[in-house]
Amino acid sequence: MDISKSRYELTAVKPDQYPDGDLPEIAFVGRSNVGKSSIINALLNRKGLARVSAEPGKTRGINFYNIDDTLYFVDLPGYGFAKVSKEEKASWGEMIETYLNTRKQLTAVIMLVDIRHAPTADDRMMYDWISERGLSHMVIASKADKISRGQIQGRLSEIRKILGLKADVNLIAYSSETREGTDRIWNELEKTVLEGVISES
Ligand code: GDP
Repeated sequence: MDISKSRYELTAVKPDQYPDGDLPEIAFVGRSNVGKSSIINALLNRKGLARVSAEPGKTRGINFYNIDDTLYFVDLPGYGFAKVSKEEKASWGEMIETYLNTRKQLTAVIMLVDIRHAPTADDRMMYDWISERGLSHMVIASKADKISRGQIQGRLSEIRKILGLKADVNLIAYSSETREGTDRIWNELEKTVLEGVISES
């Protein structure tokens, strides 16, 4: 798989707008502003592919990024953004839920939380939901460059405890600024869910 051959494909708000075909999909979830667009750009080594929002919560649909016609990265709308109406929140919730509940091609979920903050009630709800559904997943603690090295393990332990992550769930400190964690994330994706896909190339 050649990750340099990645492109934005479409934005969907309803299932009939999702891409056709049966390529596996890796979904990214997290609160708005947690760094989803940035990690997608960093993992694909493409600066401007996913839009890094100046205005948090602006992404209104589910964005699909096609990687070498082999795999999709799927950027789900960020939740927990305070400055939107109740109606808008409900419609985002439904969009996320419908995708995660019904999408057969969904292969793994990457959930992001900000390493500096305790996961919120929204984060816990999201995480419970992912794990109860038995979806393959990992958790990324983003913006690791914003704290000192010495603080990282303590923050990770707290996140693990609050979300209730089992010992075998990967929790990775990550920074889109320094790219720390990028190789490990790709390795985990290859190991756990993409073996078939990646070894074809
Ligand atoms: P999204 O709303 O989850 O897609 O978040 P974005 O990727 O748009 O990032 C939100 C803001 O956080 C932007 O100003 C980014 O530059 C910043 N940001 C994202 N990831 C990191 C990171 O790892 N380190 C630092 N220092 N800033 C980050």
